[in-house]
Amino acid sequence: MSVRVVARIRPLLKAELDRDIVVHGTSSSDGGPNGDIDTIRIPNPRNENEEFSFQFNSVYGVQATQEDIFQNEAESSGVGGQLIRIVAPTINHLFQGFDVTIFAYGVTGTGKTHTMRGGKTLSERGVIPRLLSGIYRRSRKLEKDSQGATSVEVSMSYYEIYNDRVYDLFEAPEKRTAPGLPLREQNGKTFVVGLTERPCASLKEFENLYDQANVNRSTSATKLNAHSSRSHAILCVKVSVTTGEETRVSMASAIDLAGSEDNRRTENGKERLVESASINKSLFVLAQCVEAISKKQARIPYRESKMTRILSLGQNNGLTIMVLNLAPVRSYHLDTLSSLNFANRTK
Ligand code: ADP
Ligand code: MG
Repeated sequence: MSVRVVARIRPLLKAELDRDIVVHGTSSSDGGPNGDIDTIRIPNPRNENEEFSFQFNSVYGVQATQEDIFQNEAESSGVGGQLIRIVAPTINHLFQGFDVTIFAYGVTGTGKTHTMRGGKTLSERGVIPRLLSGIYRRSRKLEKDSQGATSVEVSMSYYEIYNDRVYDLFEAPEKRTAPGLPLREQNGKTFVVGLTERPCASLKEFENLYDQANVNRSTSATKLNAHSSRSHAILCVKVSVTTGEETRVSMASAIDLAGSEDNRRTENGKERLVESASINKSLFVLAQCVEAISKKQARIPYRESKMTRILSLGQNNGLTIMVLNLAPVRSYHLDTLSSLNFANRTK
């Protein structure tokens, strides 16, 4: 089991009013061609003469492209190849039979969805479509190289956790029942009862299903009068590799977490407080689990929250990647600092 924590600073947005940059990255000695850096510096908000610095496995600066974040297999041996890339290595892991879990953590507006899902164009695609594209490419190659003796099946489920309740994103929002889907344990594993699992034989099929489910996500967000930023969106991709009688199953999970902002500072409605309490608790448990995994502790408190329980976080030999999304400007200063402290704990 291993953990990588990488940070990504998004660029200033065109419409952003605050142009006061407080978050800086510095180049590492092996700095790649795209401004890769591995240290983050930020002033102490109480004393601007003082500066805090944080080190991560990798830090991506404002010039980093979606491709840099992914780094496909063909390119990973090229310039900057020794830098730890986020997605490409996970495909190797998956096909060796290990599980992979990728989280995007950060304040609302820092680029979590951009990193995970990305935009419509090929170059703007995020981690998820690139991961799937890599999985299908590898599957076809495996099938071809084995001359049909090995076959690969891919299926997906996609759900959100809002106020500690699980909702299937393949289910139309109006069909949702308030308590959400129940969990059940079987042979020591936790399942979401009634969760839809859809086979997807190609990237095209995956993208259709993924887009459809994302429409459900935004509709439900409007209906519940809640932002999608207050729920965790969890995509699980199951890869089953069959050779003869033997089938090996591994799971890739990609999670666009609820915004980590401190809602106490900005809002104090009752509903918001309930949301914040459940977001804070699940992020806190997540941090504890990631910390326990990275320190190779025997006890990982994954049962303490629904999300980590369903993911069985740290229970299957595998790779966990935490992407820490950051905005560079002053208006995020305090929240950025707590994000950095959060991620620092998990190393
Ligand atoms: P979050 O999901 O964390 O709330 P988003 O992914 O929605 O944040 O990003 C907020 C805005 O910033 C969006 O308009 C998004 O397109 C833009 N953005 C985020 N990261 C980048 C980036 N690396 N390059 C360009 N635009 C970005
Ligand atoms: Mg988002």
